[in-house]
Amino acid sequence: MKPVAIIGAGITGLTAAFYLKRAGVPVTVYEAASRPGGVIQSLRRNGFLAEFGPNTILETSPKIAQLVRDAGLESRKLATDPAAEARYVVRYRRPIEMPGSPPGFFTTRLFTLGAKLAVLREPFIAPRRDGVEESIGQFVVRRFNQEFLDHAIDALVAGVYAGDPHKLSLPHAFPKLKALEDKYGSMIKGQILGARDRKKSGEVAKDRAPKFSFDDGLQVLPDTLAQYLGNDLQLNTPVLKLTRTAAGWTVKTAHDERDFASVIYCGTAYRLAELNVEAAQIPDLRTFAEISYPPVASVVLGFGRQDVAHPCQGFGMLIPKIEGFKILGTIFSSALFPNRAPAGHLTLTSYIGGARYPELALLPEEKLVETVLADLRTLLGVKAKPVFVQTATYPRAIPQYNVGYGKYRQLLTDIEAAAPGLHFAGHYRDGVSLGDSIVSGINIATRLLPS
Ligand SMILES: Cc1cc2nc3c(=O)[nH]c(=O)nc-3n(C[C@H](O)[C@H](O)[C@H](O)COP(=O)(O)OP(=O)(O)OC[C@H]3O[C@@H](n4cnc5c(N)ncnc54)[C@H](O)[C@@H]3O)c2cc1C
Repeated sequence: MKPVAIIGAGITGLTAAFYLKRAGVPVTVYEAASRPGGVIQSLRRNGFLAEFGPNTILETSPKIAQLVRDAGLESRKLATDPAAEARYVVRYRRPIEMPGSPPGFFTTRLFTLGAKLAVLREPFIAPRRDGVEESIGQFVVRRFNQEFLDHAIDALVAGVYAGDPHKLSLPHAFPKLKALEDKYGSMIKGQILGARDRKKSGEVAKDRAPKFSFDDGLQVLPDTLAQYLGNDLQLNTPVLKLTRTAAGWTVKTAHDERDFASVIYCGTAYRLAELNVEAAQIPDLRTFAEISYPPVASVVLGFGRQDVAHPCQGFGMLIPKIEGFKILGTIFSSALFPNRAPAGHLTLTSYIGGARYPELALLPEEKLVETVLADLRTLLGVKAKPVFVQTATYPRAIPQYNVGYGKYRQLLTDIEAAAPGLHFAGHYRDGVSLGDSIVSGINIATRLLPS
């Protein structure tokens, strides 16, 4: 079996390496940072568990559960508490539970009669078939109305991408919504009729997919995969240069140069822009620096249960920009899983920054905490100081699949064609969720395995 180099030990690179190694392929994983996991980062301290990056994995594909089984982690997997299904969206400056059923939708205070009528009208609006790439904002206003965008979708978009609905591309950032319109002519019809098709393929809609983590947080998954890789994973080792040779690729780091049959790039788009790749007819990689990754800060606060008026029983709350708060949303972390807070306490994880307020993510810790606390006092009735404080700032958090993103995806395909043996996988190509990255890692490993 010919050796494969993998650049990046985030979940994509680790997953690809795990499956290749299990099949007997010699792998070397190069990671610039001192720890595996990329943006996944869990920290346990004083009985609290802080999860700075992703909080849950959405099980949208059977491949995700398969990885957990293959990694031997079935017994450490934790499903979210079924009692914590409620999701809140802020309106009239307070969190209102999102309706979970059609009758609930028509009685909720979250939307006015105008938005409710817009939903009833949606199946009768002709699909757009002129091939023009819309933003998710344009799409929602066209098929529903402005209120639906401002009071619901804006918040959901902040929750997934920390992004701007007027910039995010419908076909690239929300391909499933686009596919519903293309196939069924309507979102509502597609939700109903598409259920049968999804059942057949084993795929699960994001809003219905089970969510899970592990007993000690999501970091358990990359740590376990890294352990399996042992010395095949080299931390603190950024790849500096790739050179095409007659037989494959030479990978250069600060320590050495080694030859491989193929290379999988599982890093970030902005680091790809800096990579020195020596091969004939390679397009200019600096283009990838154009992809926006706005900063996000995660602020994890622990409180005495009695010091928060809101029950915080649910997944969390999302906050539309129009409501005028600074935070993008808050996850009720200790309601989701046991052991996230000591008895009599709760953990709240809030996000700040993103495309909405990038400058706020870069505030010093003290100011971050002050800003989050001001919003939580109004929204959740926080009455005292937190007893646990941990923050982490991601200066470049999540790539924005904005209108025109197809150019970058096409460029990756062109490079793969011009430079055989060089492959690209991960969050900047195959979707920004953790589940998407796992599936991306599995798919690239499968493609490289001899059949
Ligand atoms: C704050 C935050 C919250 C999130 N919440 C959720 C959530 O709740 N649910 C969900 O599904 N998803 C969530 N996501 C998204 C999800 O976590 C990511 O999409 C996914 O983890 C990306 O994995 P990856 O391996 O593709 O990339 P990364 O995790 O970015 O890993 C890339 C790795 O490559 C390394 N690297 C780059 N260049 C080089 C080089 N030249 N040489 C060596 N190494 C290099 C980097 O150091 C890094 O470790 C969140 C993301 C963030 C930032």
